[in-house]
Amino acid sequence: MIVLKFGGTSLGSPAAIERVCSIVLLARERTPLVVVSAIGDTTDSLEEAAQAGPAAGERKLSGIRARTMTIARELLPRRPFSEFVSFLDKLLVEARELLVQNGSDSAPSATFDALLGVGERISSRLVTLALSECGGTASNLDSRDLFVTEACHGGASPLPGPTRRRLQAAVPPHLAAGSIPVIGGFIATGEDGFPTTLGRGGSDYTASLAAAALGAEEVQIWTDVDGVMSADPSLIDSARSLTELSLREASELAYFGSRVLHPATMLPAIEEGIPIRVLNSTRPSAQGTLILPEPRAPEGVVKSVAYKENITLIDIHSTRMLMAHGFLARIFAIFDRHETAVDMVSTSEVSVSLTVDRPASVPRILQELGRFSRAEASSGKAIICVVGEGIRYTPGIAARVFAALEGIRIRMISLGASRVNVGFVVDEGDLRQAVRRVHAEFFDPPGQGKEQSR
Ligand code: ADP
Ligand code: ASP
Ligand code: MG
Repeated sequence: MIVLKFGGTSLGSPAAIERVCSIVLLARERTPLVVVSAIGDTTDSLEEAAQAGPAAGERKLSGIRARTMTIARELLPRRPFSEFVSFLDKLLVEARELLVQNGSDSAPSATFDALLGVGERISSRLVTLALSECGGTASNLDSRDLFVTEACHGGASPLPGPTRRRLQAAVPPHLAAGSIPVIGGFIATGEDGFPTTLGRGGSDYTASLAAAALGAEEVQIWTDVDGVMSADPSLIDSARSLTELSLREASELAYFGSRVLHPATMLPAIEEGIPIRVLNSTRPSAQGTLILPEPRAPEGVVKSVAYKENITLIDIHSTRMLMAHGFLARIFAIFDRHETAVDMVSTSEVSVSLTVDRPASVPRILQELGRFSRAEASSGKAIICVVGEGIRYTPGIAARVFAALEGIRIRMISLGASRVNVGFVVDEGDLRQAVRRVHAEFFDPPGQGKEQSR
């Protein structure tokens, strides 16, 4: 069997959903399980609704209803359309109740997660009905009954054992009966029985978890660009698509900001050795990118340049204690207590610098660090990461990266332990220029582009 995942960008119009249906039906021989994200930017709207509070949130929900109805009306004939409308309206009544329950609280909670998950419940039902209209037999399974996570909100870790058992019990009977199961990505249930999610962008992770549990031969992530590219194509016009990547390279790229894949997507695939293919639903004939445990033909040393914005850099100085044992442990214990992940670290004799991408907890962290060091935070930074397996075997890559950045202020440098990346931090204002220059250094033909990009 095979798992096909379609992102919100692949479901934004009736024509887009029809394209999705024809891709699924063409894969029928390979016994597909379909995972879908919410339509377009529905999850953003739901998040805004929750943050705006019940009154303004209500208007956001009406907007979601209007956009969904426009698509469904064009896509579905009368009977399935009215079936869908009553499903949608029931779901929106539930969403309104959740809005009231949530108040205007934007902290992660079961209520907030339940509200965000409404988008995938809508889209999976709509795609199921659309597939049936296109000549398939499809059944909409509820992901909340299939995926079990820790009881934690705003992006919970899945529990592989129970998830595997539920998927293995629920999905194969549908496949055996020739029906295509369609599930919403992103949503799950905590081990305490309350709604959870896998975090924003988490439908990719849903797909690879399902693939690992069901022993799929491949996971296909269908999006709106020709696979994983040498840089974000919305930032770099000359970005090109990559034919093959290793799972390690894909993990680094995803972790350091390439939105095209959720960072955890590669974990189940690495464990089970399942290849991931990233494809373009608007150009299904394009080759896309194949992500393998060990790629066959290395394509060049540097594969891609990723970036992550909204980074806060924290500098911690201590003349007395830095080299004393336990000092770093003490620092990291504080970040751990505040459930704040650290992306990059570098140390010197008298200071430690690190980066975080969740600014909310920074004031409390600084306060605690202040008890035994002088700590300061600067926001408005960006991490740029140059990724490629060949970096570890090829001398001079870091020198080329930093030569290309001449004149741009670099705030921190890190050569990843896996040595498949060179990362550095710049001011957000320099981000675009820095990515352009580094990309030009490795991807523009010699003598071209580098000058213009300065
Ligand atoms: P989906 O709705 O399919 O999940 P996303 O918006 O999450 O789509 O991811 C696709 C987007 O990721 C692309 O439109 C592109 O702008 C962005 N992106 C960032 N970095 C890369 C990269 N290296 N390769 C391809 N796309 C990238
Ligand atoms: N719909 C969710 C989000 O927008 C999950 C996903 O798209 O992968 O974050
Ligand atoms: Mg995505």
